[in-house]
Amino acid sequence: MRVLVVGGAGYIGSHICKALAERGDTPIVLDNLSRGHRHAVKWGPLIEQDVRNVSAVTQAMSDQGIDAVMHFAANIEVGEGQREPLAFWDNNVAGVVALLKAMERSDVLHLVFSSTCAVYGEPQTLPITEDEPRTPVNVYGQTKHVVELMLEDVSSRGALKYAALRYFNAAGASPDGEIGEEYDPETHLVPNALKAAAGLGGPMHLFGDDYDTPDGTCVRDFIHVMDLAQAHLKALDRLRQGADSFACNLGTGTGISVKEILDAVETVTGRPVPPTLSPRRPGDAAQLVSDTRLARELLNFSPIYSDAKTIIEHAWSFYARRWGLHPS
Ligand code: UDP
Repeated sequence: MRVLVVGGAGYIGSHICKALAERGDTPIVLDNLSRGHRHAVKWGPLIEQDVRNVSAVTQAMSDQGIDAVMHFAANIEVGEGQREPLAFWDNNVAGVVALLKAMERSDVLHLVFSSTCAVYGEPQTLPITEDEPRTPVNVYGQTKHVVELMLEDVSSRGALKYAALRYFNAAGASPDGEIGEEYDPETHLVPNALKAAAGLGGPMHLFGDDYDTPDGTCVRDFIHVMDLAQAHLKALDRLRQGADSFACNLGTGTGISVKEILDAVETVTGRPVPPTLSPRRPGDAAQLVSDTRLARELLNFSPIYSDAKTIIEHAWSFYARRWGLHPS
């Protein structure tokens, strides 16, 4: 299969490209490199282009003989979305409008869309099922929710079939340390904790230790990026086999607290990560944990790398190489 991976130079997109290539498919990356990295595109051609350029994307689909599309080209940092909402609406929503136009013109019918548990906002019940009301509490979650509504509408009236995959906390790196998470500025927990362990970038800020959780720190459902990649392949296969459109959560069903992650970072790296206690980050829910039944049922998906130790070992080996350290 020749798969157009929009945003394939970014963190999750590049891991999907690796997984596609490993099973014999060809990933064709379309990325404007605003956040992604040229060095993360290794398994097929890079078309340096913005997804909002409908005619260029249509041309790329026909030049490359594209069979299906995966979309990862979005702004994702919650705080940035609150400060610059229009940039988020433009890239995250107008980008998908343009992509759907190009797909329609090219007669490409299958789309795997990168969504998020942020579409649920503050959940009323845990673990979170796909039936949880979708009431996002920030711009990032709103843009993803609106795209899901658009996909529901467009696919109900035409030939488009899509899978919307609502990720919980993507983390880790490819097991061989070849690619990993590289945002600038970095806001995510695992890379920030590893940076602090490496003595880079100042102290680790712990955003609140008085949540109503067992150890007072937030609880998240961390899913290894290579597990996410496998779920994407299964979602694509399901669509290609003629299934209807669907949306499902991708998580492990197990909550891990921020403190537990910091402990695992200390164990894996052998280095202390003394956190600086900082105020709660606006919009952080106390606990976000996925119900995993639908992903198991629809995709026969169960994660294999998504325990804290493996996630951190793989991320550490990637950063150790990138930062020129020797993991101890
Ligand atoms: N967090 C933290 N320090 C950091 C980054 C994150 O304490 O430098 C906490 C954050 O408050 C949240 C959890 O770690 O409770 C996961 O945050 P992250 O930004 O990695 O993912 P999110 O859950 O926001 O998608």
